[in-house]
Amino acid sequence: MSARVLTVLGATGTIGVNTLDVVARHPARFEIFALTGATQVERLFEQCVQHRPRYAVMLASVAAAELRARLKQASVATEVLEGEAALIEVATAAEVDTVMAAIVGAAGLPATLAAAAAGKRILLANKETLVVAGQLFMDAIAASGAELLPIDSEHNAIFQALPRDFNGDFQQAGVKALWLTASGGPFRQLSAAQIAEVTPAQAVAHPNWVMGKKISVDSASMMNKGLEVIEARWLFNAHAAQIKVVVHPQSIVHSMVEYADGSVIAQMGTPDMRTPIAHALGFPARIDAGVSPLDLLNRSLTFEEPDHARFPCLQLAFEALAVGGAAAAVLNAANEVAVAQFLDGAIAFPAIPASIAHAMSKLADAPAGTLECLLDADRRARVLTEQFLAKN
Ligand code: NAD
Ligand code: MG
Repeated sequence: MSARVLTVLGATGTIGVNTLDVVARHPARFEIFALTGATQVERLFEQCVQHRPRYAVMLASVAAAELRARLKQASVATEVLEGEAALIEVATAAEVDTVMAAIVGAAGLPATLAAAAAGKRILLANKETLVVAGQLFMDAIAASGAELLPIDSEHNAIFQALPRDFNGDFQQAGVKALWLTASGGPFRQLSAAQIAEVTPAQAVAHPNWVMGKKISVDSASMMNKGLEVIEARWLFNAHAAQIKVVVHPQSIVHSMVEYADGSVIAQMGTPDMRTPIAHALGFPARIDAGVSPLDLLNRSLTFEEPDHARFPCLQLAFEALAVGGAAAAVLNAANEVAVAQFLDGAIAFPAIPASIAHAMSKLADAPAGTLECLLDADRRARVLTEQFLAKN
């Protein structure tokens, strides 16, 4: 068995760190070609010392210079590159066969798309790539013959519960619906009035999962589930009506597939992202992930309907799917701007869905045919949302 050669985009984030944890358990299986991060010099330095990649990429020049100096001092031979072009270089290099796409937000799109066009095995955590440019991304995968494995726990669960040879034809596979489970986030039991008062610290304290700040806020607003509905649409060629959302606060059932004969196949496990990461890293082999075994004794699993009145973001995502075109790119961009402002303490939590609804209403007919169109819709939605939030 020859080792898989990996680039980890977003190595310094939560998914990146979990990925390297699994990789370190299997030194004969994986070799690290490149690790990337935006600004966190110290963490990327430590990762380079441990994994000895050929390249490390920092987004910012200042951070790159600092990392270069640290590595030189420590006599680590890793070469430090910088900037967005370097992300694409390490995602497409001929030596690389597998790319973990774990940058957060639409910022991950260019390198993830480039890896798809280059025919790599892509382990996709960066759901925003599919939300912004789902059609283009899936077309790039089909054209290059790249292999796509979902890392998002729900989509990884669905992937595992679908037939191995599933080709996107629901009818042929006898698939009736995909059931995405949602934890409901930290505000599941709060009233609308209480939700209006929540702080960033409360929003990032997720009951079951440890995640980056942006996705934690998305989970609290249920926009994360909205983004995942759009992600499922593209990954599995599903119609919106075939994607169901159910709140399951224990986060044990990671998602389910419902079949024509009445069977519902669920994937379960301890909530730990190393399970889907190890599944995709090893696929089709099953490898140790370091995850605690699932203990189902004396636990109850409950399921409830999502409350669209208190959590309007989920419905906004279904609307974006119904509108099509660049609507999901607009939704995503407005959400990124609003979440960043909420995390900075500049706006209240309900301003997040309000800004998204505003951007979608103003940019409903933005064209979507090319990557340039989508990036333009993204830029316009960001400007519009900044203006909207400054006024409100
Ligand atoms: P995070 O904030 O912990 O890490 C983000 C990573 O991206 C870091 O390495 C950071 O340096 C890098 N980064 C940030 N901005 C960048 C930019 N402009 N250019 C280049 N690199 C940049 O985020 P995370 O929780 O690891 O999530 C990463 C992605 O995985 C997100 O798309 C998220 O939705 C998805 N995801 C995460 C989880 C989870 O449990 N954390 C679960 C499912 C999906
Ligand atoms: Mg998820």
